[in-house]
Amino acid sequence: MRAGRLLRERGVTLLSLDLDDTLLDTDAAAEYRVQAAAQRASEVLGGLDVAMVDQALRAAMAANPVTQGRMAQFLQTLGVEPQSNEATAIRAQYNAVMLDALVLMEGAEVTLSRLREHYRLAIVTNGPTEMQWPKLRKFALEGLVDHVVVSGDLGVHKPDPAIFRHLLTEAGVEADSAAHVGDSIHSDIAGALAAGMTAIWMPPHLRAHDEVGEHQPHAVIETLADLLDSVSDEG
Ligand SMILES: [Mg+2]
Repeated sequence: MRAGRLLRERGVTLLSLDLDDTLLDTDAAAEYRVQAAAQRASEVLGGLDVAMVDQALRAAMAANPVTQGRMAQFLQTLGVEPQSNEATAIRAQYNAVMLDALVLMEGAEVTLSRLREHYRLAIVTNGPTEMQWPKLRKFALEGLVDHVVVSGDLGVHKPDPAIFRHLLTEAGVEADSAAHVGDSIHSDIAGALAAGMTAIWMPPHLRAHDEVGEHQPHAVIETLADLLDSVSDEG
């Protein structure tokens, strides 16, 4: 069944969304970040072979899971000891340019504002406080939703259903009237299901996605705009 119609049929009133690779195109920012890390690697290691750096860059972009995985793969390909000062400097550069590189998913702002005419909206994101809040602020996302839950603030992370229960309590909404949308089967779908919520999966476009396994989402969407099929047609 189409996602939006499912939301309507289930009487969903609270719609929660993941941040990274759901509202923000974190994957699209990765190449810029790895390029910056490669530049730093050339500086701290000196005399690096261009072809080798290129190979490490490609290995990093293919790495899954992402974030820690990309830099681990990059450093390993270059033969850099992960605990070394050089590795620390290269990783720091990768993280330092993240905020500059980040972009919103296409149509995210418009979709949120249209969804907000019909649902109470929330963002539930995993990550450290000092990493997630600057991302939210860069795009003023706090102003586009009613609730923001950052796992680093609570010390509870998806897929722990406690993070979703925190949101439900704050919003005063029962789990069966709430849905969560995210790209990760492991954290978003498994966590929302464990909390008794409707779970909608938006598989990532730029990397291999998680195995679905036992955590079957209730619906799958291609883009955020697919959530609007509940409010833009009467079928
Ligand atoms: Mg995500």
